[in-house]
Amino acid sequence: MPSDPILFSSSPFPDLPVIRPDAPVLLEIRDLHARVEAKAILKGVNLTIRAGEIHAVMGRNGSGKSTLSKVLAGHPSYTVTGGSVTYRGENLLELEPETRARAGVFLGFQYPVEIPGVSNLEFLRVSTNARRVHRGEAELDTFEFEDLVRERLQVVQMDPAFLERSVNEGFSGGEKKRNEILQMALLEPLVAILDETDSGLDIDALRIVAGGVNHLATPDTATLLITHYQRLLDAITPDYVHVMAAGRILRTGGKELALELEQRGYDWVDAELAALEGAEADRLPAEVA
Ligand code: ADP
Ligand code: MG
Repeated sequence: MPSDPILFSSSPFPDLPVIRPDAPVLLEIRDLHARVEAKAILKGVNLTIRAGEIHAVMGRNGSGKSTLSKVLAGHPSYTVTGGSVTYRGENLLELEPETRARAGVFLGFQYPVEIPGVSNLEFLRVSTNARRVHRGEAELDTFEFEDLVRERLQVVQMDPAFLERSVNEGFSGGEKKRNEILQMALLEPLVAILDETDSGLDIDALRIVAGGVNHLATPDTATLLITHYQRLLDAITPDYVHVMAAGRILRTGGKELALELEQRGYDWVDAELAALEGAEADRLPAEVA
């Protein structure tokens, strides 16, 4: 039993206390392993995400957070070498990235790409329509889409002038992040994965982005927030906080765990990881034999 009352599990494969046991599981990640080039990055990630939940993944730089998000989105540079990911009962890993997006898996990038020459408005319209067709809804024409986008712009309090520019081209860091949330507001994903959406935001932009995320979180959708800092979690209250280290989830707790990280830093994570890896190294010879 954990001695620390605010943590409910220190196991690398925790039995999560389920907050909404009746809610459908949207995403089930089991023992996920992945590599980039020849380098193993994810080393056994386990995560169950139900409808209505907000999960935060925290961890030092280089712990594999962005890799996890990119593997879920289907980035071609990342190779899954073991484990499974099930999205609403379907094998997510065998779907093309665009199929995942159409089916409601959204990734807000840590570093959104600029696409010179592609109108932001057109880009948003085409992607929104692809998602609508997948859901059996009619495509929106230019005029209908303009009405929708103007309504959704309010979620992120963005100037309509950004629609007339190329996708993210010359946008500031904060503007790019707002544009990601605008895209999310239009696509209405079922699972939204937001990778460091708070980085590079001043306090006002952070409030707006957090407000947008809260506004879009519904009992039918789930949010996976990847963040370095507690400050985003002051504005968005997670149901679960996971600490990632060396490609796996080392510990899971409630929102208090984020505060503990803020206060204690990550040194204890390193100590726990070293102990775990030591125990694994001790086990290894027996397994080989
Ligand atoms: P985080 O988001 O937690 O900071 P990342 O998932 O970005 O961590 O990176 C995890 C590790 O994988 C880091 O050591 C990083 O250098 C490495 N890595 C990520 N992407 C690549 C890549 N394309 N090529 C080589 N190494 C990579
Ligand atoms: Mg990252």
